Amino acid sequence: MIRKLRERVGNPLYFSAGVFVIFLYIVLTTGVLLYLLTAFGVLNIAVFQDIRILTLIIVLACLIVGTVASIFASRQMLRTMRSFIDATERLAAGDFSTRLELKKPPEFKLLSANFNRMADELGGIELLRTDFVNNFSHEFRTPIVSIKGFAEILKDDALSKEERDEYLDIIIEESTRLASLATNVLNLSKVEAQRILTDRESFNAGEQLRQCILLLHSRIEQKQLSFQANIKEYMLYGNKELLNQVWLNLLDNAIKFTPEHGEIGVSMRHTGDWMEFIFQDNGAGISPDALPRIFDKFYQQDDTHTASGNGLGLSIVRKITELHGGSIRCDSAPGEGTTFTLLLPASTQLPSAPVSR
Ligand code: ADP
Repeated sequence: MIRKLRERVGNPLYFSAGVFVIFLYIVLTTGVLLYLLTAFGVLNIAVFQDIRILTLIIVLACLIVGTVASIFASRQMLRTMRSFIDATERLAAGDFSTRLELKKPPEFKLLSANFNRMADELGGIELLRTDFVNNFSHEFRTPIVSIKGFAEILKDDALSKEERDEYLDIIIEESTRLASLATNVLNLSKVEAQRILTDRESFNAGEQLRQCILLLHSRIEQKQLSFQANIKEYMLYGNKELLNQVWLNLLDNAIKFTPEHGEIGVSMRHTGDWMEFIFQDNGAGISPDALPRIFDKFYQQDDTHTASGNGLGLSIVRKITELHGGSIRCDSAPGEGTTFTLLLPASTQLPSAPVSR
């Protein structure tokens, strides 16, 4: 507020002071010049007695001094403008390390700070884009190379039935990975393009969670995991389809990263203005180095592709959570399991929606 006021009052004052200084400079220089010319006898003092000649001399002197002063002042100004134009040209050509160091006047200092911030942001976006393209190409290429390789091996008539089945299974698995990559990239780009949450409705979050667990039930059975569920009939006001992706991703990870006979659990509770969803497992856990990166696109702690997935799930989960005005946290230690705590504002509920506790 004070800064804005200072800017509003300060800018015209600064400009007026500048004009005043230029005027003063012209008048003083003209005065000193005329004094010196008369003192050294170049000009006769008598000419000043004729008001017309005096006016003419003063106008001419002001014109000469003013022109010289303007040339110097505008050269300085143009030099600053030139450095600004050069910097924008370098930035437009893709050099995001370009920075401006204009010190004065204050407007140029501000312009320079804003320009540097813009270059910073653009550099960050470019880095993200390059990273995304590199990662995507890598994730895309790996299964294709594998499918091609095994398809070529399958042409060999001498293969036994077991070998043939094994290679076909790999091809099926890799095709599934490709399909899931395409779906995830599409889902991510959809939620990333969204600025506000659309298609909100009121629905029973507990019921939805139960359906997700049912969907993954065969995998839970297959690994003989023990499952602890503390599910409540809370009503949520949000995008049902997107939240379904959140639950499926978190449950899928818990199952995937927990060894056979392990334990996983899901619980829900109300804490003040928030609705809390906790997904727990006693699986492999995440190392402290990897923990800050798990929500990054394409990040996988183990990138050897022994576990299915492409490292996009948690990026999608976080984006959807943020779109709902919530947050997600992960606590984990290697060998001790992992806990994801997801908070959604209880205000996402419709005022009329019944809440069961
Ligand atoms: P994906 O599961 O497809 O690899 P995600 O974005 O869902 O990708 O997860 C990113 C990474 O975070 C995983 O590769 C894994 O290393 C780690 N991670 C996520 N959930 C868990 C979990 N429950 N237990 C251990 N590690 C996990």
